[in-house]
Amino acid sequence: MQETAIDIKGLTKIYRGREGDKHALKGLDLDIPAGCVFGLLGPNGAGKSTLINILAGLVRKTSGQVTIWGFDQDVNPRQSRAAIGVMPQELNLDPFFNPRDALEMQAGLYGVPKAQRRSDEILELVGLQDKAKAYARTLSGGMRRRLLLAKALVHHPHILVLDEPTAGVDIELRQMLWENVRRLNEQGMTIVLTTHYLEEAEEMCDEIAIINHGRLVVRDKTRALLGQLDTRRIVIRAEGPADVMPGGQGLHAVRRDDGTLELSYHARDMTADAVLARVRAAGIVISDMRTEQADLEDVFLKLTRSR
Ligand code: ADP
Ligand code: MG
Repeated sequence: MQETAIDIKGLTKIYRGREGDKHALKGLDLDIPAGCVFGLLGPNGAGKSTLINILAGLVRKTSGQVTIWGFDQDVNPRQSRAAIGVMPQELNLDPFFNPRDALEMQAGLYGVPKAQRRSDEILELVGLQDKAKAYARTLSGGMRRRLLLAKALVHHPHILVLDEPTAGVDIELRQMLWENVRRLNEQGMTIVLTTHYLEEAEEMCDEIAIINHGRLVVRDKTRALLGQLDTRRIVIRAEGPADVMPGGQGLHAVRRDDGTLELSYHARDMTADAVLARVRAAGIVISDMRTEQADLEDVFLKLTRSR
């Protein structure tokens, strides 16, 4: 049984250009365990698509080592390519093929024998069975995205990689995509995805890597990453004017635009009770109160701001 789905060592990518060189990946080390749903996060321009396109064999790395399902990309390019299916960020579909032909064509490219092809099954999986013979130009954006997912699956890869699969898609398609991802993962497929939606990453991914400026910032189990932040927030509305801000060591108070007071503290430093005691000590009468939990967005901002 394969333990590591993808192993990346010292990966660099420099795009050479007339306006100078662009270092998109700067010595990235990353291993992705088999069987998980792995989230690759990072701000725009972090290098996520570059990484994914290198995995897909669409972009040539500058240096470093990439091993997919045990196959070194440089030593066994065919096997390493066969182990992975990639749904790219760009909608690059050939307008001359209907969905069914596009899948057959893709299967042919990957050397899948006719007897092992499952084009109709895959079209059904992504909900395109009615469009099997439709002209590609008549497909909506959402349908094209589904077709890209279908294409990534034709050769039954061990690993499915999705680059921003839900960016700009409607809720229905998003749900369909996630249902498919979950089902494929339950059947044993390793999933790697990039997303801008942090709540999605929180919900979908077992493990997360955050990259920024072509470097790995952090990599951990999603739960551990969230646990790392023990920042708590209490938001209160004061009765009457709150002229004196509550303060003291370990408590950070700011007034929000809507007039409420936001109090942040670390759970390890003090209790909510102690925070409220300080609020009262500042002469504030609380008329309303709620708490806010830190989420992945906080982790993300905290980690990417400084580096
Ligand atoms: P992400 O997917 O995280 O938004 P990308 O991998 O697309 O990031 O881009 C990483 C960096 O490399 C960006 O600064 C981007 O402008 C640059 N880049 C991406 N593709 C090319 C290319 N073909 N030629 C030159 N620079 C590129
Ligand atoms: Mg991208």
